[in-house]
Amino acid sequence: MLIRQDGLALRVDAPAKLNLFLEVLGRRGDGFHELETLMVAISLHDTLRFTEEPTPAIRLRCHGRGGVDTSVPSGDDNLVVRAAKLLQAHSGTSRGATIDLWKRIPVSAGLAGGSTDAAAALLALDRLWELGMASQELLSLAAELGSDVAFFVRGVPAAICRGRGEEIHPVERSLELSFVVARPASGLSTAEVYRHCQVSSDPRSAQPLVELLADGRLADAARLFHNSLQQTASRLNREVTDLITRLDRQPVLASAMTGSGTACFGLCATDRSARRIAGALVEGGVPWASAVRTRV
Ligand code: ATP
Repeated sequence: MLIRQDGLALRVDAPAKLNLFLEVLGRRGDGFHELETLMVAISLHDTLRFTEEPTPAIRLRCHGRGGVDTSVPSGDDNLVVRAAKLLQAHSGTSRGATIDLWKRIPVSAGLAGGSTDAAAALLALDRLWELGMASQELLSLAAELGSDVAFFVRGVPAAICRGRGEEIHPVERSLELSFVVARPASGLSTAEVYRHCQVSSDPRSAQPLVELLADGRLADAARLFHNSLQQTASRLNREVTDLITRLDRQPVLASAMTGSGTACFGLCATDRSARRIAGALVEGGVPWASAVRTRV
């Protein structure tokens, strides 16, 4: 995540992610699930600005972009505030901050908007407060905040993630891909989807998909897109089924749901095709759709 100086403040663009592959391997004793997932960071992002406060207070101001569900709590329930307070407690610093958050990533969509904002807070406040934390320390704070936070703290463009998602194995090859991403009117709670999901009886690995995507064999790769949670999410929210049907009517190479939904994506041959499809989906009544690229 690139942290830029903005006068006395720091500014960060926090990217969303897509899960191009997600296999649920088992249930764990701690209530989480054992996963293997291929995560890619994408160009869709929130923006955060961090300004030092003369007191230890953490103040968050949320600025929604409207049109899409981007409303988030601005108090202690916001993951940005939780990340800031966790960092204060862990480091013992008495420095505070005002944080401005411009939300663009739709919430409860499987795009990890909360997780990427939390990662941005850990990285930027470590710099603003001159804490000099070791990356291993930041990664362990990330894992306390949520399963997807570590991926963004590592700051790699793509990774195969295992465990409950916090074990990051960066993809060494570059994946330059175009997608259309869309979200229906309603979201889904991650916890609810996992509560109802099925453990795969014949688990697959994400590695073959990585190789095909990196080789540019998109038509072959398209057959390996997979999300174990998609069937459960479709059962809980019919809008997911409807959105996949709408995506499949467009000239996409493959479609799937990301994370625990409800956002879904289509792999596109070019950026231009992704933009055209996003426009067609919105014209056809889909509440939000956007053309995105993977970060490289
Ligand atoms: P994941 O893919 O990691 O499961 P998600 O994309 O499905 O996440 P989020 O958008 O991160 O879901 O939101 C999940 C919940 O977290 C929502 O109930 C939201 O109100 C809450 N939340 C707290 N802080 C934030 C934040 N900064 N941005 C988005 N959601 C937040």
